[in-house]
Amino acid sequence: MVRPVDYACHGEIVFVLVLNAGSSSLKFNLFDMAKETSIAEGMAERIGLADGSLTFVFESDKHKEVLPLPTHREALHAIIERLKAVVLHDTPIHAVGHRVVHGGPKYGDSLIVTDEVLADIDTFAMYAPLHNPANAMGIRVAREEFPDVPHVAVFDTAFHHNIPDHARTYGIPYELSQKYGIRRYGFHGSSHSYVAARTAILLCRPLRALKIVTCHIGNGTSICAVHNGRSVDTSMGMTPLQGVIMGTRCGTIDPSVVEMLMEYEHLDYNGITDLLNKKSGLLGISGVSSDFREIELAADAGNDRARLARDLLTYNVRQYIGAYATVLDGVDAICFTAGIGTHSTFVRAKVCSKLSFLGVKLDPEANEHGTGERIISTPDSRVVVTVVPTNEELMIARETVR
Ligand code: AMP
Repeated sequence: MVRPVDYACHGEIVFVLVLNAGSSSLKFNLFDMAKETSIAEGMAERIGLADGSLTFVFESDKHKEVLPLPTHREALHAIIERLKAVVLHDTPIHAVGHRVVHGGPKYGDSLIVTDEVLADIDTFAMYAPLHNPANAMGIRVAREEFPDVPHVAVFDTAFHHNIPDHARTYGIPYELSQKYGIRRYGFHGSSHSYVAARTAILLCRPLRALKIVTCHIGNGTSICAVHNGRSVDTSMGMTPLQGVIMGTRCGTIDPSVVEMLMEYEHLDYNGITDLLNKKSGLLGISGVSSDFREIELAADAGNDRARLARDLLTYNVRQYIGAYATVLDGVDAICFTAGIGTHSTFVRAKVCSKLSFLGVKLDPEANEHGTGERIISTPDSRVVVTVVPTNEELMIARETVR
């Protein structure tokens, strides 16, 4: 792993625990930042339900236990206990990095968590009601467990903090935008910035001289226009609901659809939020699953709605690449990442199939048969196409050290 010089490891911060708290899950990854390697990782799931589970991966051994995990506190206790027994013994954790989805209008960079920062993360739940409360809970529990080490909040929104006004402004009365902080914030920042930097390394060119469109296509999907290493536009909006259709999220729709469904389906705020976030997207269109592997199987078996869902996903991604080619005034590279972007040869081929006007020439062999980080365009392609498995946890650990 190449380590960018500006993330050079400070002597005393070596063992960094990265936590990503969801509403019923707690993912963890313990890094040795002297070597930038992950020592152990895993996830507590079904927190609050009768049959919680804890997956623990250490030295490529994977253990899964079923155990009661009534709250995030018990889940973190269980994780720490296993880390101490198997990995750390008496070695301390030097810092904890937390993934926080929304930094609101205030936070454009990672920072050490104080009571004020934590209160702000609570406040910014107004923009990310499904994510920030869980992130804040993870921080609270971890601060109690590790009171003597720095806790760092790394925001998904931070990478997009400086996108220009014309890219982030919505067409509603300006005073309301100002009053409530209603604007595009963008998400998956750690992922977009990581894969853009890796793409520059694959191209052997400086990031600060490149125009890259990064396509994070997973359960959540967002596309980002990266100019000279900075995000200048991205498909997600004030919340992670806007943009491309996703596993269960609708992506961009006409706002009038919301009013109509609330009226005719008798849905209140919670009802419509649930429908657009959890019952729409690939799942809602196909009626099969939110899992893209199952969509692909059903589509290949002739299921028309699964085909429609798959076609809409690739169409949306292509639309954004086309749009960002004009935003960037040209494209040097297109990068695919996240579960679908990294693994689906079909999605990459379909997305690239109508980008010949940009000079994109996919190498079918490299697209189909390679693995890991690589270039999948032909040597004479005017735009280099890359696949880069993302590593958001490593980015959070680097930010924590920084
Ligand atoms: P992520 O949110 O990045 O973990 O991505 C999850 C999505 O990636 C799910 O829809 C998975 O079905 C999809 N995915 C994972 N592995 C594959 C694969 N080998 N082929 C196609 N899709 C995949």
